[in-house]
Amino acid sequence: MPTLPFACHCGTVQGSVSAATPQGGNRVVCFCQSCRAGALYCGADDPKSDGVDLFQVMSHQITITAGHDQLHPFSFGPRNLLRWKACCCGVQMFSTPRSPKMALVGLVTARLADAGPIGAVKSRAFVPKGGGKTAHENLPALIKVAGRMLLTRMAGRWQETPLFDTETLQPIAAVTLISRQERQAILAQAR
Ligand SMILES: [Zn+2]
Ligand SMILES: [Zn+2]
Repeated sequence: MPTLPFACHCGTVQGSVSAATPQGGNRVVCFCQSCRAGALYCGADDPKSDGVDLFQVMSHQITITAGHDQLHPFSFGPRNLLRWKACCCGVQMFSTPRSPKMALVGLVTARLADAGPIGAVKSRAFVPKGGGKTAHENLPALIKVAGRMLLTRMAGRWQETPLFDTETLQPIAAVTLISRQERQAILAQAR
């Protein structure tokens, strides 16, 4: 099973993802406004209608080999996903649920040195369908991810995470909360 290296923009944060194959995770493009706002907040180019490309894997597939202390989460609300930023250069690395027991990590595909081995995008989430409606495409792939999350939790492997303290279930660094108003301002500025 191939292991692929990833890094932040400046190279301070380095790590790898195991089982980096089309079967080892789900490559998904997310079109939701929070992913877009997260990218903008981290200084990335506006994803606009292209969405944000993520490789969804289980947390035990992620290893951090350098710059662990540079990883800080931010979130658009007290219950929203955590989005992990490399503070050294500001780029976004991952998104994760609030609880390590969910075991999911969305690795920002652009952080991989070479995304070739993970294959093409398999599913698309929150695709705009007009009239403010959205839909998920290739639902079976997303359901498979949910199944893997459940199995990982039951097997106890959720505890092999580099991003949470598994005793307290808290992230390894304090969460920066971004208010609804700030999020709106970030999106409004990009238009
Ligand atoms: Zn999203
Ligand atoms: Zn960096």
